[in-house]
Amino acid sequence: MSTLRKQLQQLSSYDQDTGLPNHEALLGDINAEIAKASPQPLGATLIEIRIRGLSRIGEAYGRKTIGSVIRQLAERLERAPVKNRIIGRIDHKSFGIFLYDISDPVLALQTAKQLVALCSRPVPWGDLMLNIEAIAGVALTTGTVQDAATLLHHAGLALRASSESGSPGYAFFDPAEAQAAKRRNDLIAIVAKAVEKNQFEMVYQPFFAFNSGKLMGFEALMRLKHPEFGNIGPNEFIPIAEETGLISRLGAWCIEDVCRTAVEWPSHLVASVNFSPAQFYTGTLLAEVNAALKHTQFPAYRLDIEITEGTFLKDQELVLSQLNALRGMGCSIALDDFGTGYSSLSYLWQFPFSKLKIDRSFIHALDTTPKAPSILKSIIELSRNLGIEVTAEGIETIEQMVTLRNLNCDYLQGFLCGKPTAKTNLAAIILKNFSETLGQGNDALSKIRVIR
Ligand code: C2E
Ligand code: MG
Ligand code: MG
Repeated sequence: MSTLRKQLQQLSSYDQDTGLPNHEALLGDINAEIAKASPQPLGATLIEIRIRGLSRIGEAYGRKTIGSVIRQLAERLERAPVKNRIIGRIDHKSFGIFLYDISDPVLALQTAKQLVALCSRPVPWGDLMLNIEAIAGVALTTGTVQDAATLLHHAGLALRASSESGSPGYAFFDPAEAQAAKRRNDLIAIVAKAVEKNQFEMVYQPFFAFNSGKLMGFEALMRLKHPEFGNIGPNEFIPIAEETGLISRLGAWCIEDVCRTAVEWPSHLVASVNFSPAQFYTGTLLAEVNAALKHTQFPAYRLDIEITEGTFLKDQELVLSQLNALRGMGCSIALDDFGTGYSSLSYLWQFPFSKLKIDRSFIHALDTTPKAPSILKSIIELSRNLGIEVTAEGIETIEQMVTLRNLNCDYLQGFLCGKPTAKTNLAAIILKNFSETLGQGNDALSKIRVIR
């Protein structure tokens, strides 16, 4: 090889800012270490250190400053008292430190912690001290993982976990997490195709009045039955639809499908539909609800929209204006899953909800927590004072049902009196409840259970 070519190759292997091996060269060096140990598997660790706060520094003091910060951090890493390592620059804000004789997870984590602390110290620049923060993802080689690219991928996944968890700033690669990431990836494609091919279906769960045992309506719940992947639940596909921006199309389809189904029910029955927070940020929600009501001739006063407290997290003004508009159209708004997540009583007085649905975790707590009845009693009394009706979700046992009835809860919903079911089964449920609550005695509630 000519000297010039050699020089060029060398130049292209090194990072211009720091003189460290660049991404490609680092992968090559790691693979070379693995090959040296072969046929024995190499027990080693890769730590990816990511620096946060660089863009803020760039915006305040110019791009040159970022180069200086990175150079100083590279020097710190090179001087760190860590033996048998290869350091490289993975990308503009990450370093990779390959420890080719550390295979002990405890030691690996200790080293990561040490490097995070080292890189999180303020960096001098002129008269200033610039604040930065480092986080780390740690991955170990295994018997089967013996290549640099997979190791780097694992360290990247760990880095994501560490950045999501906030503290302590470093995390281990977890195979379960990798599997979850793969499933998520698969689901993104599945959900996009399912929206395209109309593979979603609505099922309906009945809810009843405690005082009369009468069927009051059905909550619509979305299902995805995939020919290959089987049943995928809404807790899995709704977040994907939200992230990929497909929620608007899915939501529009859902509301129209539910209205078209519910317009066939007797006129005293209500249809409850779940709206995800993301739907309030698409800008098309009101038009979609309007169009669905118009196309199907379903009266708005029979449409109950369920939202969760998370809906208010981003832009309360924007959400409140749409909720008010929906109420203006005649729809009712219910606060779903009450008691979970960001529970804050402030939501209760910020908007005139017509219904509050107590999350099923509270109902299940009746079986395990002696304080549960007092908490439920307080929620129900508070709602009553505010003129809000209360549904208990997830009732599975007669004992839970009796407790809630004695606490003066308004409505019950749960597997005990009806699981979510296809729309073709609803006529039978409606008829059965009608005949069972006709000429009812005092014990109407016991009849609800027959509907299962
Ligand atoms: P959610 O609105 O609170 O719905 C109640 C969930 O609890 C449903 O789960 C229902 O099947 C389940 N459930 C009802 N009774 C019982 C019971 O007695 N025991 C137990 N263990 N579970 C019970 P599902 O259908 O898996 O829905 C989960 C969540 O996904 C819903 O919670 C809702 O937040 C969301 N979701 C469902 N359908 C839609 C939809 O069409 N659009 C949107 N945006 N979200 C939906
Ligand atoms: Mg709901
Ligand atoms: Mg709920």
